[in-house]
Amino acid sequence: MSRRPIWVISGWTLLALLGLLLAAGVALIYAGTLPGRPAPRPGDRVLVDPGHGGIDSGCHWDQLFEKDLTLRMAVLVKNRLEEAGVPAFLTRSSDRDLDPLEPSIRGRHQRDLQARAELARQVRPVAMVSLHVNAGTGERLSGAMVFYQAQSPESRRLAALILEELRNVVPGNQNGILSADFYLLRSVPHPTVLVEAGFLTTARDRATLTSPDGQERIAEAVATGILAYLRGQAAPIPSDRPSLAPALGGFGRDRLEPDTDGCGS
Ligand SMILES: [Zn+2]
Repeated sequence: MSRRPIWVISGWTLLALLGLLLAAGVALIYAGTLPGRPAPRPGDRVLVDPGHGGIDSGCHWDQLFEKDLTLRMAVLVKNRLEEAGVPAFLTRSSDRDLDPLEPSIRGRHQRDLQARAELARQVRPVAMVSLHVNAGTGERLSGAMVFYQAQSPESRRLAALILEELRNVVPGNQNGILSADFYLLRSVPHPTVLVEAGFLTTARDRATLTSPDGQERIAEAVATGILAYLRGQAAPIPSDRPSLAPALGGFGRDRLEPDTDGCGS
């Protein structure tokens, strides 16, 4: 009985292994380009901004602070984007503000916002999403809202695509997109939106905003909207709210203050 030379067997085994590796590589490459997945262009990156931080707690409800909720949601959004192959950055990843302590700029909150805008100018993101949580008086106001840059059709498209997803997770009478003159929106020269994920003062919204499951669903919705934006998807219409008037109250005065959201310190 003849025996094959041992090197022949090793050669075929090696070939088989190489074939398997090649097939796995092709499968991985293909999986990254399946239809429906975003195809990020080189340089595409998203900046996620957890609102407030450090001494600035934002809104609060008992011991629940906006700054903590926004950070948790922002980390989840960043993870979702990176899972989809989109580089994502946070303006902060811990409980701190971005106040550069430059005495030449008046006001700690103003310095914090300017630092966030400056960071955006350095990162040059294809989109910036600032995450916030709202507060109203009593239980009258509910639902997610997204604010966009008045002069930017791309900012409006981003806002509409995020809201389209988010309104299913945090439904309510304030669902809508609106242009706003907040400092961050007028200072960042890239498509930027400010998401108010829901009202901490309303029980149903609060349950979603504060539960791990709710935060996951909010982050998933925001990330899905961002990915639709990156794919070039058109904005759903109509999505602008006809007017702020039905929602105005104590809330409206805060909302229209130019340099902060409704929970600025
Ligand atoms: Zn806020």
